[in-house]
Amino acid sequence: MTDSPVPRIQLNDGHSIPQLGFGVFKVDPGETERIVLDALEVGYRHLDTARIYGNEEGVGRAIAASGIPREELFITTKLWNDDQGTASVPAAFERSLDRLGLEYLDLYLIHWPTPARDRYVETWRAFEHLREGGRVRSIGVSNFLAHHLERLVDETDVVPAIDQIELHPYHQQPDTTAFAEEHGIVVEAWGPLGQGKYPLFELPEVVAAAEAHGKTPAQVVIRWHLQRGHVLFPKSNRRERMAENFDVFDFTLDDAEVEAITALEREGRVSAHPDEFN
Ligand code: NAD
Repeated sequence: MTDSPVPRIQLNDGHSIPQLGFGVFKVDPGETERIVLDALEVGYRHLDTARIYGNEEGVGRAIAASGIPREELFITTKLWNDDQGTASVPAAFERSLDRLGLEYLDLYLIHWPTPARDRYVETWRAFEHLREGGRVRSIGVSNFLAHHLERLVDETDVVPAIDQIELHPYHQQPDTTAFAEEHGIVVEAWGPLGQGKYPLFELPEVVAAAEAHGKTPAQVVIRWHLQRGHVLFPKSNRRERMAENFDVFDFTLDDAEVEAITALEREGRVSAHPDEFN
């Protein structure tokens, strides 16, 4: 494997994941190949997409065009809500693999619990079977709160490797992250920069750390996530920002700087509540 500055985090199933990746939510399908190729050229090797983003084909074309050996890449996609249920999962999985042009997937996630459907437990059992089939290496969930995770732990055989949740300095989900840590579930932070909906880059705590280290506020927020142990994949269509967001391995925040950013928590959710989104 070629050298990468990105550390890998060990998962509870024996696999590992690059801690920093590139996400493609809201990346226009027509532009996805170019944007993902840019990200791969910058150095990203971990890509996060989803059926509902409508851009799995573009991600697949970029992977094929890049010529990067498959084993150097870590590819995640997600099962959309209307594909939940024992009968639907295998075909939905195959369609995603086809669109991506891949023989196997590194990580497959249930995108939302959608509790009103009450199908996430049977969906998880179908995920367990998929993993036994060998064409997906790791399985996990997204937007699961502690009580959704608890049901899986209590009622099924495999503990999720990952929970991908909204997580940024204004919304850190301490109950869910504590449950995850207790059960060996790695937390992925989606919306790690708050999707640009909060003035995170203007907060004095962030600006002070940026000035102290000669880095940008975005780099400080990314560094905060890395030092808190989160996996993250900030999104940008712009190559210079992709490079900026990747250039975060030459400095370390001290404990006081990390704590000052952690203290910014204010339950500032940008998305729907997982108990209400169905
Ligand atoms: P994000 O927090 O990564 O914010 C992205 C926005 O931040 C960009 O549109 C850009 O405007 C801005 N930005 C990026 N880099 C910047 C920089 N260096 N300086 C200034 N501004 C910058 O939000 P996101 O894209 O929603 O989250 C990242 C990824 O998480 C997504 O692409 C997707 O893969 C995943 N995600 C998952 C879910 C889920 O339900 N599981 C939901 C949303 C996103």
